[in-house]
Amino acid sequence: MGKVIILLGPPGAGKGTQAKKISEKYGIPHVSTGDMLREAVRNKTELGLKAKAAMDSGKLVSDDIVLGIVKERLSRSDCKKGCMLDGFPRNVSQAESLKEILGERYNEVVALLVDVDENILIKRLTGRRNCLKCGAIYNIYFSPPKVENKCDKCGGELIQRDDDKEEVVKSRLEVYKESTLPLIEYYRNEGKLKIVDGSQEPNLVFEKVVQLLGL
Ligand code: AMP
Repeated sequence: MGKVIILLGPPGAGKGTQAKKISEKYGIPHVSTGDMLREAVRNKTELGLKAKAAMDSGKLVSDDIVLGIVKERLSRSDCKKGCMLDGFPRNVSQAESLKEILGERYNEVVALLVDVDENILIKRLTGRRNCLKCGAIYNIYFSPPKVENKCDKCGGELIQRDDDKEEVVKSRLEVYKESTLPLIEYYRNEGKLKIVDGSQEPNLVFEKVVQLLGL
């Protein structure tokens, strides 16, 4: 059985980017509860409709809903060789449920914290702009387009994701501090915590991640 990698860290730390790289390099599925929930919302499934209000306001979706989708996903055969969990667990109760779900496989868990200073996070999140047409991503503080609100690549209009608006970002960071931060202590006590500095450029962060995971 392969490793179960858990990525911890605040919104904006670059977990999604690292998760994608890890999943590609090691050939294990990227299991992102945020992506699965967004897909359910887009498809207007029963589950998506239940999750939408919490997601729109930056709050956590109920544990029941999230555990249901995670259990189903982990039971698929592609997760036998390991998996990359992104955005789950989000609180101690989810972490305890995960331990139960994994049973003996819990030995294979590594919790990797992507650590980034809060001031950088706020700029990364509130500064992010996405091209409506081609999906390119910019940041008005760190990687601005040449012309304001216009995509360098295709000339499309740049917009801000609803959950990147300042009010929602603040709420997401508060939820993180209250519910998710305690997971750092939790996994430290379990002897499973590793920490990487996530404030650098994504490829540099990834080099460190590979060293730490020792895969
Ligand atoms: P993310 O893309 O991981 O930031 O997730 C986007 C949103 O989906 C979060 O703000 C939550 O509303 C919801 N969400 C994702 N994962 C979880 C989880 N493990 N528990 C509860 N809510 C979640």
